Amino acid sequence: MSERLSILTVHAHPDDESSKGAGTIARYAAEGIQTTLVCCTGGEAGDILNPAMDREEIKADLEEVRRAELKSAADIIGYGEVIWLGYRDSGMPDTEENAHPEAFANADHDEALGKLVEIIRRVKPQVLISYPEDQKRYPHPDHLQVTNLCLPAWDAAGDASMYPGAGDPWTPQKMYCSMWSRARMVATHDEFLARGLESPFGEGWLDRPGSDHKITATVEVDNRIRREALLAHGTQVDPKSPFWFGLPVEVQDNIHPFDDYMLMKSRIDVEPNEEDLFAGLRD
Ligand SMILES: [Zn+2]
Repeated sequence: MSERLSILTVHAHPDDESSKGAGTIARYAAEGIQTTLVCCTGGEAGDILNPAMDREEIKADLEEVRRAELKSAADIIGYGEVIWLGYRDSGMPDTEENAHPEAFANADHDEALGKLVEIIRRVKPQVLISYPEDQKRYPHPDHLQVTNLCLPAWDAAGDASMYPGAGDPWTPQKMYCSMWSRARMVATHDEFLARGLESPFGEGWLDRPGSDHKITATVEVDNRIRREALLAHGTQVDPKSPFWFGLPVEVQDNIHPFDDYMLMKSRIDVEPNEEDLFAGLRD
């Protein structure tokens, strides 16, 4: 394969790129693989979750603050390029933000798909990262919209009859979504208890059935990247959050040093239990 290896991740909000798959991108960027982030919204509807940042001057300029935070996080992760798709955060389900005409969830489908197709044709990713089709657990309208666009883009980008003015056709070879690992959560929970600490993963979390059986790829990563990138989102992530930072750094890093993925689509044969999203695509 003569084209440079390239991975494109599509995320809904600033901070999603840090909480999901940051270590994977850092690893591939360090290898010299082209890494590109599409961030679909500005995160305007997200609450200020860090009490230290809950100040009037921050709120007055939240859009710019969140842009700068994403730039810092993307630099920490090692993204080669950040592309803003230009939509407004649609807010959580059943909130008044849902009705905003510029909300990503209300985007004209053909127009938004055309934007994504143009990006895919330009950056030529063999690997595309989307969100799962089943999002019953966290049905954020913007996360659902990411999947609604990535699924048709998988075919449209390589179809010369679609969006003929948007660049030469390019066909991605594999599409994954990142998965929330129950194994990671349980191990983290057990570690809190072993240390006599209160676990942020109470009954509501532990009662949920896991979907780890759907994981098809496990990439070994440095979890420190995720933590540092999350901290760059000063308005969205409380550095005192036990959920993200409640265990000592070195302990947290050893619990589950992996990012987990499910293969959604592939145009090549794929082995079970992959450890590399580019498996089968390297020379
Ligand atoms: Zn999000």
